Amino acid sequence: MIIIKTPEELERMRASGRIAARVRDELAKKIAPGVTTGELDEYARELIAAAGARSAFLGYRGFPGAICASLNNVVVHGIPGRQRIALGDVVSLDVGVVHEGFVGDTATTVLVGVTDPNVVRLVSVAEQALEQGIAEAVAGARLSDISHAIERVVVQAGFSVVREFVGHGVGRSMHEDPQIPNYGPPGRGPKLKVGMTLAIEPMVNMGVADVEVLADGWTVTTKDRLPSAHVEHTVAVLEGRAEILTKSSGAV
Ligand code: MG
Repeated sequence: MIIIKTPEELERMRASGRIAARVRDELAKKIAPGVTTGELDEYARELIAAAGARSAFLGYRGFPGAICASLNNVVVHGIPGRQRIALGDVVSLDVGVVHEGFVGDTATTVLVGVTDPNVVRLVSVAEQALEQGIAEAVAGARLSDISHAIERVVVQAGFSVVREFVGHGVGRSMHEDPQIPNYGPPGRGPKLKVGMTLAIEPMVNMGVADVEVLADGWTVTTKDRLPSAHVEHTVAVLEGRAEILTKSSGAV
């Protein structure tokens, strides 16, 4: 069942989204050669606490980090720790916060001095796919219109979408109905309604779509160990448009 948020609940989702976006953007500024993912996690904990929120990830099914930090061939769910960021890395950060009972969920992929044009294009295609997916998240559309728009952008670019992990409804819980695959034909699934809140998150691989989970039980890597990019926004379905709740504000 897809939970429709009241206008009051949407206001609270906006507040959570703003916090998640600010934390994401502040962390992105700290990404540099020599910084460890554990240091980013520490900083995330400070920022989230200062905002009067808590991490939605920490302790989720035992996840040990406040954020996910996924480098290069790691698609999602990288555990922050001693890993040191180096020149040429592709760094995906996923931030989830709970504020006054509502979740904001967002991710970005940052390039650290990357010069390979194909890697630059990978991230730009993931961002375009997210943008196109969000453009379909309007009242009256079908859920799979989002999925199809994402897949179209990625396939046209010659990259592949991960199939094992998907976007999701979000609200009082981080994972609500519906699941939002990043692939599939258009015009299927439930009709979108004003007040639905969705975490749309394309995971785009440079090579094959296949992924595997490492022995730590969390880290998801590409099977061919080629790089992957992950971007995510929490959005609200409105009449004629989607509102991005985790947009960059610029202000801190
Ligand atoms: Mg998510």
